[in-house]
Amino acid sequence: MFSSQLSPDQRERAISQLTGEKFDVLVIGGGVTGVGAALDAASRGLTVALIESQDIASGTSSRSSKLIHGGLRYLEQYDFKLVREALHERELMVSSLSPHLVKPVGFLFPLTEKFKERTYVGAGLALYDALRGFQRALPWHKHIGQKQINEIAPSLRPDLIMGAIKYFDAQVDDARHTMSIARTAARHGAVIATRVSAESLLREGKRVVGVKAKDLVTGKTINISATATVMCAGIWSDELHAKFDLVPGYGVTMSKGVHIVLPGSAIKSNAGIILKTPVSVLFLIPWADKWIVGTTDTPYTGDRAEPFASREDVQYILDQANRVLTPKLDATEIIGVYAGLRPLVANNKNSATTKLSREHTVDRPAAGFVSVAGGKYTTYRIMAKDAIDRAVIELRELTPESVTEKLPLVGADGYFALVQQIERLSQASGLDALTITHLLNRYGSLISEVLELIEENPKLAAKVDEDLLYIKAEIHYAASHEGARTVDDVISRRTRIAFEARDHGVHLADEIAAIIAPVLSWSVKERKASVQAYEDLVDRELEALDQLLESNESVNS
Ligand SMILES: Cc1cc2nc3c(=O)[nH]c(=O)nc-3n(C[C@H](O)[C@H](O)[C@H](O)COP(=O)(O)OP(=O)(O)OC[C@H]3O[C@@H](n4cnc5c(N)ncnc54)[C@H](O)[C@@H]3O)c2cc1C
Repeated sequence: MFSSQLSPDQRERAISQLTGEKFDVLVIGGGVTGVGAALDAASRGLTVALIESQDIASGTSSRSSKLIHGGLRYLEQYDFKLVREALHERELMVSSLSPHLVKPVGFLFPLTEKFKERTYVGAGLALYDALRGFQRALPWHKHIGQKQINEIAPSLRPDLIMGAIKYFDAQVDDARHTMSIARTAARHGAVIATRVSAESLLREGKRVVGVKAKDLVTGKTINISATATVMCAGIWSDELHAKFDLVPGYGVTMSKGVHIVLPGSAIKSNAGIILKTPVSVLFLIPWADKWIVGTTDTPYTGDRAEPFASREDVQYILDQANRVLTPKLDATEIIGVYAGLRPLVANNKNSATTKLSREHTVDRPAAGFVSVAGGKYTTYRIMAKDAIDRAVIELRELTPESVTEKLPLVGADGYFALVQQIERLSQASGLDALTITHLLNRYGSLISEVLELIEENPKLAAKVDEDLLYIKAEIHYAASHEGARTVDDVISRRTRIAFEARDHGVHLADEIAAIIAPVLSWSVKERKASVQAYEDLVDRELEALDQLLESNESVNS
């Protein structure tokens, strides 16, 4: 049996396996599409390796709106196929594939007019609910009158909002979910190595037979042999196609989307809110005791690795939300800001990004080489399946069909039963029920591994910060089981302290480094360098927001 643990030892073993074995499938890119492809291929019984140049989910897959949804706005574009497919995936994730991570969330669609708008939006939401088919993991939408709306969402302007329709979608911690897919792939035998970058292709004649890669930790070159190479590089696709001397059948346009994070007190509503904007929609999404509000949709051509929010992005979000809110949101309330880049598959580079389809494309620009890009986070499993369906043709042998529709992620097994045992778990571990619930929603049945760490070292039961729910055992576990290798990996992706804590979590960086240093066998110098690297990253982000800070000194990010 294989282990799902992504530890420093596991990485070392993975690096030597990359050099010594020939794989059926090599995946480039550890975003949700890449880890999904690795899981799809490994669970068909194929030998699989995945290389990721940075950290798992360090690209777009940690920077989304974190919604698992059909996409109401695609209904308006008559993209019924995409909506139906995404709703099917949503139902699967909430009910069986990853119920510990993907949770239902209610949204209000506020109405400013009593009859015509209600009929139009009501018909749209009825279609939305119907398109999911016979699976019913989430409640049906319902109409809400003006009196009720004042009780449910007192922050919506009573002079403007005449009622609402409440519907349901789902939400997820995207980076955690992507990492859990990677662990599930490892559990089925995939060799996963982060900080390994694909540099060029290995060829025999015209056929691609693998990748020349660089281990970014040691600087060593690794030749990885594979019958099929599958590139899932999202917004890096164009850059890599050019680097690999391939002529692709599609291009990828980047569109920047920014979110701001606010304290729970900033918006009084017991459901999320969706607003139509001139170019798209704006979501006000409950995130534990906070709100995530976004997003923007603007063409982008800058640095792919570090997209930062600008003052204009933040102002746009505030202005759009403030059309319907009372009291208005103020920039001084902002706790965090993050920006991401959508990989939009484009046939015509001159089209406005908002009109481009969210559907994905699978391409085979050379024998032995398949690439996939576009799509949505929600449809990762379909993208992965389509890419591997194409890749297995390169193997020239009969291979089993994809089974990921029936394959729960690690931690999903037994989750619903554990939720019934919160009190017992609380008594046995000495942790309060709130912390147990927090852990179950992040680890599912793998909670036992986190609790074992506390048994070995009871000091790890302490909270990292009194304003946050994370405990020290989670920080240790991030490095010992979840592949975290830097302070940034822990603060930005294994936890979401980067946008949940007031100063991006810089005040916690030293302590976090001290917890993971022994796990990663760091010297004092390496520990300090990792803290410094995180502080530098935060400085660069703050610089990009400088104008906002100048106009409002108390904004923290
Ligand atoms: C603002 C915003 C909001 C969004 N909201 C939603 C939403 O609510 N719901 C939804 O369904 N979708 C949403 N999306 C879309 C969704 O996030 C993306 O479609 C999805 O995350 C893309 O995943 P990916 O794996 O294709 O790309 P990525 O996550 O970017 O992964 C590509 C990976 O390739 C790696 N890589 C690059 N070059 C190399 C190399 N040479 N060697 C090895 N690895 C390499 C990168 O480091 C990166 O990790 C949103 C997107 C944005 C930007």
